[in-house]
Amino acid sequence: MLKLFMLGSGSGGNACVVQNENTMILIDAGFSGAEIRRRMQLVGLEPDDLEACLITHEHGDHIKGASILSRRHKVPLLMHPATKRAGHRKFSGNERMRHFEMKEVMELGSLTVTSVPTLHDSASSTGFLVESGGVSLGYLTDLGAVTEDNFLAMRKADFLIMEANHDRDMLWNGPYPSHLKARVDSRVGHLSNKDSAEFIALLAELGNLNGVMLAHLSEKNNDPDLAMSVVSQRQERDLNIILARQDQPLKPIEVEKK
Ligand SMILES: [Zn+2]
Ligand SMILES: [Zn+2]
Repeated sequence: MLKLFMLGSGSGGNACVVQNENTMILIDAGFSGAEIRRRMQLVGLEPDDLEACLITHEHGDHIKGASILSRRHKVPLLMHPATKRAGHRKFSGNERMRHFEMKEVMELGSLTVTSVPTLHDSASSTGFLVESGGVSLGYLTDLGAVTEDNFLAMRKADFLIMEANHDRDMLWNGPYPSHLKARVDSRVGHLSNKDSAEFIALLAELGNLNGVMLAHLSEKNNDPDLAMSVVSQRQERDLNIILARQDQPLKPIEVEKK
């Protein structure tokens, strides 16, 4: 059994819980500690039960509540050493810091988690594959482009949380200053709906995938209906597609085989 609780996703904060029968982990802690606890409790979870909190990278929308949550609820924080260095002020004095290397396979309680390098303009940037009892969940947000490594790692995934950040026309005609538009659109920025749709279609064709959650949607440069239609229209196979929300957690999703 593998269950996903999406607590919220977008540039205003990212966090989700993954659990099996006896282990529960948090991926990213991009809301305040109190807000993460509030959202967890809304879906019936307690932060005290967390085995670990995995951090993808040091941007504020992924680490905002990490340190306080870790101290208050005695949760180990796991991240790449470069992430720790880049966010050192936020993490200083925390005794529950642990490291992983890229492509490391970690046993966290009874969950197996593999770190996957992603292309993003942070000191280090990571996606994850979480496995339990023969099913797998992938997590890929904050990436400007997908790599062969990403594909090979996620080929196992039965369910994928995938960034669909922006529509390129909305981005370039939108309110961002031009340097920010260029950053978002670059290979180390964020993934467009179209690129997200392509990757999902490739995985659905050649992998195990049967469900996707579109995540990290931009509030200014995307529209949830548009993201949904771009991704679903590109699919040739039946795929369950869900949209993550910024403002509230979703009902839990059980990861299942095709
Ligand atoms: Zn982000
Ligand atoms: Zn980021």
